[in-house]
Order: sequence, then structure tokens, then C-alpha cells
Amino acid sequence: MYGILARKRDGGELSRAEIDRVIEGAVAGTIPDYQLTALLMAIFCRGLTPRETADLTLAMVASGAEVDLSSLPGPTVDKHSTGGVGDKTTLVLGPLLAAAGLTVAKMSGRGLGHTGGTLDKLEAIPGMRTDLGPARMIEQARSIGLAVVAQGAELAPADGVLYALRDVTATVESIPLIASSIMSKKLAAGAQSIVLDVKTGAGAFMRDPDDAFALAHAMVEIGTSAGRRVVAVITGMEQPLGLAVGNALEVEEAVQTLRGGGPADLRDLCLILGGELLVLAEQAASPAAGAARLAALLDDGSALERFRRFVAAQGGDPRVADMPEELLPEAPLRLDLTVTTAGYVAAIDALTIGEAARDLGAGRQRKGDPIDPAAGLLLRAKVGDRLEAGDAWATLFASDQRRLAAGAARLQSALRMGVSFPAPPRSIYGTVRAGGREERSHQ
Ligand code: URA
Repeated sequence: MYGILARKRDGGELSRAEIDRVIEGAVAGTIPDYQLTALLMAIFCRGLTPRETADLTLAMVASGAEVDLSSLPGPTVDKHSTGGVGDKTTLVLGPLLAAAGLTVAKMSGRGLGHTGGTLDKLEAIPGMRTDLGPARMIEQARSIGLAVVAQGAELAPADGVLYALRDVTATVESIPLIASSIMSKKLAAGAQSIVLDVKTGAGAFMRDPDDAFALAHAMVEIGTSAGRRVVAVITGMEQPLGLAVGNALEVEEAVQTLRGGGPADLRDLCLILGGELLVLAEQAASPAAGAARLAALLDDGSALERFRRFVAAQGGDPRVADMPEELLPEAPLRLDLTVTTAGYVAAIDALTIGEAARDLGAGRQRKGDPIDPAAGLLLRAKVGDRLEAGDAWATLFASDQRRLAAGAARLQSALRMGVSFPAPPRSIYGTVRAGGREERSHQ
């Protein structure tokens, strides 16, 4: 280990065998934390070559179980978002892709800090369970084309060990370490085709678009070298996605979108990500053709019908697709936030919104903290909208006064008003495909 540390400290390269030994030792507990953290810091400062990054990822995959989806009918697809605010795309995209004949056997996580998690959103539906385990996930995916379950600790356990150390040693923000961490779990989860939604902007992990592109390149390269079809879409997270932030509120917005309505930015993002997946899975000739096919499945009720079957299969009440406002938990306290002067909404800071939703009870500060499924907020306006003095720009939902006051106080700094119509924030920055092909969009 001493030699490995000295070489990486000096900017040298590690072999596959050395990386394998480190990962085996990390999981077995035979390498002390001080040596592992010294290596993580050396990687943070010196980086990893693409070959080292791919080897690290494969070693992390091999440290645990790998889900075998090869017996499933239809192309198997997966989607990953690097984390945002109001991002309920999985709730829409899962049923939509299943309705298009793809198979989605997906493992998801919980929310932490200012970002939400798919499992928390699903569990806001009365009766819905996500603790199915891989065998039941595969059976359900076989029968209805869709299962979304909790990602267990058996997948890429080395990532759990390394992430816990990174979290307390200021070594999280390293592109090769983030890329290998995310991709180890995606590869272990088994899908053939993967679309990555790499967020950039105020509410994202990667605030700078160039960093988001660099992360996208690293992840696409890892996936491709492991024999998977991978595309990354770099998307904006300056303001929240859609209008709803908070678990039950987001389920309701997802249902509206599955009915063919919902906010335009949410619908468009689902169609873009889905269109890319249809191309990867050889079910569409172009992303635009794929998106058009998916739009029809939203508009004709097919995706909503698949959502009903999905909810019922996981123990939830399928009537949530028809009367979400009656079945989802509702917060007893509400508060409208209003603007004092007329003007245009110039910015709605996604990070502050995510933190306020957490203050209201929708998220957690620490892993394992309880959450309130009914808490959160609904935006009444987005960037570019005109508001008159006294108009509400957000409605807050909470179960107690202390939380309501904390959320309201935090939100004071989230909104910026202007006198003239602002340039709209970018929603799509571009794509990264296999072979390092990058396209930047200029909208
Ligand atoms: N998400 C992960 O799963 N891993 C990281 O390193 C960062 C974000």
C-alpha cells in the first residue's frame, strides 16, 4: 500500500491488479482508513486516467452482487440523475418506457440534503413498498415491464466504504471518484442501456457546465468500456424542475404529466431522456422520433395505465392515478408567499428551494432521518413569469408551525425579481455519446 500511495501522490499510474487489491482490502477491512483516505486524497489531487477510472469502477462492481437481467424480455434500460430539486422524472419515465415496450428494473435511492429521492416519493403513495429485493424486482419487471426498488447494500459495497470516507475527508468532488461511484452501482444493476441526466446549475452537484460535461464524458466512457450503451444529457438545474417540490406533491405532478398534462419542462425532459433511451435500445431511429412516440403514449393514457399496474404491483393504491388529491397525504398547514412589487421572476434558486423543502420536513439532513411525505412547496411561477404586487409565488405545506416558519424564512432569499423580462435559464446544455462525441446546444 505504501508504494501505491507514493506513486499516486507523485502522479503515477496504478495497475488493474493494484486497484483490485485496494478495493478488496477496503471491503475486507484489511487496509486501514488512514491509508485509504490518503489514497483518495492523492486521487483527488492527481486524478485517474480513463483506464484507471474504468478499472476502479469494475473492481467496485466486483466487490458485490451483480443483478442479472438477461432473462428479461425487451431491452433493459435504466436512467440516473445526478440529483436535483423537484426531479420526479423516474415516476413518469418508468411507466412511459414500459408502455413503449422497454423493460425497466430500476434500483433507486433516498433523498439526502437538498435533493429528493425516488423511493421517498414512491412511498408517499399509500401502501407502496420499495423493499422488494432483486428476485421480486425481476419477476415484476417480467410481468409488467417496470419495477422500482430500494438499492441494497449488496450492490458495489466498496462504494459504500469509500463514499463514507470521502464524505468526511473533503474528497467527494473528484470527477473520477464520482464517475466510478455512480457507474459502479449502475453497472451492477444490470441494464443494457443507460441514460444519464447530469445536472448543472445552482441546485446541482456540478455547478459549472464544463465540470458537468467532464463528468458526463467520464461516465459514458466507463459504461461503454464495460459493454453497455450509454448516453449522457447535460441539463439545467438553476430553478427546480416542474412546480412541485416535496414527496406527495411531486407524485401528484407526476400523475398530471402521465395524464398528458403537467409542467412543460418536466414533460420535455422526460421525452428527451426517453427518446435517447429508445435510440440506445434500437427502438427509434432518432431521439426526436423516440420522443414523438413517447409523447403519444403520454397523451393516449398508455403510460398512466402502466403506472396504475406498477403501483398495484408494489402494494400501492392504483386509484392514485385517478384521484391523487384524495389519496395522497395532505399537510394541515399552508402558507402563501407573496411578492411586494410587480415585475418578472428573474431567478428561483434551486438550492435554496431544496433546502427550504427539507426545512419544511420533505427531506433529511442526515441519512435515516424521518421525513414528512405531505410537506413541501408548490411554485406558483417560474423564471420569466410576470407577477403583480400581492401575487403568490409559492405555497408552502407543513405539519407544524415551527417547520412552516423555518421554510418560509429560508425561502425569502430564493426568489429574485427584475423589472425586465429575463433570459430564460437553459434547460438542455448538450449530450455526450460513446466515443467522446459531444454536442453542445445553444438554446
Ligand atoms: N453520487 C454518488 O453515488 N456518488 C458520488 O460520488 C457522488 C454522487
